[in-house]
Amino acid sequence: MRILITGGAGFIGSHLCERLLKDGHEVICLDNFFTGRKENIAHLMDNPVFEVIRHDVTEPILIEVDQIYNLACPASPVHYQYNPVKTIKTNIMGALNMLGLAKRVRARILQASTSEVYGDPKVHPQTEDYWGNANPIGLRACYDEGKRCAETLMFAYHRQNGVDIRVIRIFNTYGPRMLENDGRVVSNFIVQALKGADITIYGNGSQTRSFCYVDDMVEGMIRMMNNDHLVGPVNIGNPGEFTVMELANMIKRFTKSSSKIVHMPLPPDDPVQRKPDIKIANQSLGWKPTIGLEQGLLRSIEYFSERINNPKNPA
Ligand code: NAD
Ligand code: UDP
Repeated sequence: MRILITGGAGFIGSHLCERLLKDGHEVICLDNFFTGRKENIAHLMDNPVFEVIRHDVTEPILIEVDQIYNLACPASPVHYQYNPVKTIKTNIMGALNMLGLAKRVRARILQASTSEVYGDPKVHPQTEDYWGNANPIGLRACYDEGKRCAETLMFAYHRQNGVDIRVIRIFNTYGPRMLENDGRVVSNFIVQALKGADITIYGNGSQTRSFCYVDDMVEGMIRMMNNDHLVGPVNIGNPGEFTVMELANMIKRFTKSSSKIVHMPLPPDDPVQRKPDIKIANQSLGWKPTIGLEQGLLRSIEYFSERINNPKNPA
């Protein structure tokens, strides 16, 4: 198949490009390189069935493809809040453009939605039928509401035009190729611990998250895309739930770091708890995560320590 991945030079996108090429597909990576890097996909460039297009999803594009994975959108709060209007445009105009393309070339399209559609959830763990508790005017709204509207657009095109859609809700995902400075908790803590800098816990660290290793995420995405019966939304994430304090202590232990843990103000609307219910993914896709937090953190620590110690890649 010929497969388009928007946001393909980003963290998850680059792993997806790599895996789909390995599975024998032709892959087109489309990216505006806002948070993506050429070096994430540099090792794929020699592959004759891999193509890269520098393009912004807020502009229309016409390419003949069989499947579209729509991942284009900065995922870290620091980056998506940098230019909130652009984040909304990327989510909404990006979804419109990709849905228009899917409709025109009759491609199946998978939307990378997010656990953020549940906002600061009052239902725990989060099931797909929960409508969420998102603040429409807060600092996270450009992302949360952008992603919620992208889901709305997916279902409107599906009902109105018969577009073949798949929607997954991705929970916190981590692993190699996250940006060292992208502000997300796993990369922040690992880089801080490796450099002996203070580990910055926002608030008292009692808020929880569930962390999924990127290889498990990519497997879940591909299974969802190729399932002929389910449109979603389907939660994909690791249901292991940890407080941010527990995460900091694990990373400190695994890196044998002498870093101090310090507390900083909690950003507004920071969700108090998050954990996916993955019954649907498990029963309908036969998917469940296979890489636990310890194993995934050790692999990520290895990646970041190589980057930090390589003078060509100053972190
Ligand atoms: P990332 O920031 O590493 O990747 C996003 C990619 O999209 C980057 O390569 C960026 O340059 C590109 N991009 C951004 N705006 C664009 C635009 N207007 N046009 C074209 N390309 C654009 O983030 P990620 O962690 O790889 O996330 C990928 C997708 O998964 C995102 O849609 C994100 O919302 C979703 N998601 C990720 C997580 C997570 O924990 N990693 C959780 C929930 C949802
Ligand atoms: N966090 C933290 N220190 C950091 C970065 C993040 O304590 O240096 C916290 C953040 O407040 C949140 C959790 O870690 O409670 C996860 O943050 P992240 O930005 O990774 O993702 P999200 O909030 O979108 O789940």
